[in-house]
Amino acid sequence: MATDAETFDLLVIGAGSGGVRAARVAASFGAKVLICEQGAIGGTCVNVGCIPKKLMVLGAHFADEQRDAAGFGWQITPATHDFALLMANKDREIARLNGIYQRLLEARGARIVRGRGRIASLGVVEVAHPDGTSTAYRAKNILCAVGGQPVRPSFPGAEHVMVSDDVFRLRALPKRLLVIGGGYIAVELGCMFHGFGSEVTLVHRGRLFLNGFDGDVRTHLDEELRKRGLGLRFRRHVSSVERTGTEPLRVTLDDGEVLEVDAVLSAIGRAPRTAGLGLENVGVRTDERGAIQVDAAFRTSVPGIYAVGDAIDRIALTPVALAEGSVVATNLFGSGRCAASYEGVPSAVFSNPPIATVGLTEDEARAEHDAVDIYKSTFRPLKQTLAGGDEKTLMKLVVERASDRVLGVHMVGPDAAEVIQGFAVALKCGATKAQFDATLGIHPSAAEELVTLREACAEPTHEVVAIHDDPPKVRRIVHHRWEDGGGAGS
Ligand SMILES: Cc1cc2nc3c(=O)[nH]c(=O)nc-3n(C[C@H](O)[C@H](O)[C@H](O)COP(=O)(O)OP(=O)(O)OC[C@H]3O[C@@H](n4cnc5c(N)ncnc54)[C@H](O)[C@@H]3O)c2cc1C
Repeated sequence: MATDAETFDLLVIGAGSGGVRAARVAASFGAKVLICEQGAIGGTCVNVGCIPKKLMVLGAHFADEQRDAAGFGWQITPATHDFALLMANKDREIARLNGIYQRLLEARGARIVRGRGRIASLGVVEVAHPDGTSTAYRAKNILCAVGGQPVRPSFPGAEHVMVSDDVFRLRALPKRLLVIGGGYIAVELGCMFHGFGSEVTLVHRGRLFLNGFDGDVRTHLDEELRKRGLGLRFRRHVSSVERTGTEPLRVTLDDGEVLEVDAVLSAIGRAPRTAGLGLENVGVRTDERGAIQVDAAFRTSVPGIYAVGDAIDRIALTPVALAEGSVVATNLFGSGRCAASYEGVPSAVFSNPPIATVGLTEDEARAEHDAVDIYKSTFRPLKQTLAGGDEKTLMKLVVERASDRVLGVHMVGPDAAEVIQGFAVALKCGATKAQFDATLGIHPSAAEELVTLREACAEPTHEVVAIHDDPPKVRRIVHHRWEDGGGAGS
């Protein structure tokens, strides 16, 4: 094995959201940075996550546009869709983004090395290159930003099942698709395929999908998806999948129901990709799922080794990994100390209709505060009045009565992510309901509903607690702070 002559200030393993951000920020502070990547630059988000998914979701929405156009006088002859063309165009865009990410790193002076990194000893990372050679690199600081990977199911026939990574390599649309899982990836991909015309059945072991989201949001989406014709099977699980020759797949559920489908997608969760990283060589502590244990400053149990992003399994979202990567680089090479803030992290589910949310759910708020007021509105979007659809939008505010502070804003409806991003700023600033009321609406818009909600609902509005299968994860980590005090933000 060759040994590189240089000693780097920071060696980043994994060029995904967190790793690229840390490398760029560190290099911009003048640090000597090396980043190693075994796959495509940009990681999950760019290659098999947020970006290709959103492109495909956008593609699927054209089906609704065509349907809705008739009521506005458009006469559209039934359109056909070329799935292979969409995927080829998507691949071209992802390749362009890979290039942009690479150039952004190089422009800051970070060195990129291709291959699989493994911590060999304190301060030494061995990289196995794609050509079969390997090199040992020395570094004063190591950042593990290795992300996560889909958990694969273990029932008989699991080898016939796709995971989310495989979806982005498909070249033909499955006519009948069974999706296993109730998290946001299962729901988003199920809706996306349904939009393209696949017959979709979603099977989830819990009482309702999207555990951790507001109860009204979950039940509202349940109703909307059923109206659209998605098959939803809750409290059920897949017992086996069989394939005989070129016949369709036969999926047997736990109650004996047998479904014939063309493809099965398992989206039952993701786990940190830490196996084989050499953590045991230096004593970096992980939890039972393989997540690297870190403190508020992303320091592992071993001095000089840090970890961020999906590898630490806090909130698996790109903006969170970016913020964490920034914090590590700034604390190491910039001025002053900062910590990541996990309060008021907005998020979206790009289902159809989409969900977006920021702050506390109703049941979280009720658990944390003495008195909570709920403001809620369900209405038919203006577009549907002429389009003729029976789709409904849901808007919901969760307000602490004593302080009048808005604790949560939730929406299910078109453009939810675009609407809620703005309200996330308001929540970060500690906005009160009175300030929402004093804000004039943009008329006519759906978003104006959130500043015109005047009547609090009689409480409680629903049996939210009853539909949570597990305690919502975010609540467990909100109070991470520098143990020696420090600023917030990144
Ligand atoms: C289908 C899907 C949809 C998603 N949609 C959204 C969304 O809409 N919005 C959102 O915010 N988040 C979304 N996410 C989550 C988001 O993609 C992740 O939270 C984010 O990418 C995590 O960044 P990361 O840097 O921790 O890891 P990653 O982006 O996964 O990057 C880790 C990188 O490390 C590399 N690597 C791993 N091990 C090694 C090794 N030993 N040596 C060298 N390289 C290694 C990997 O190849 C990878 O490139 C989605 C995820 C999926 C799967």
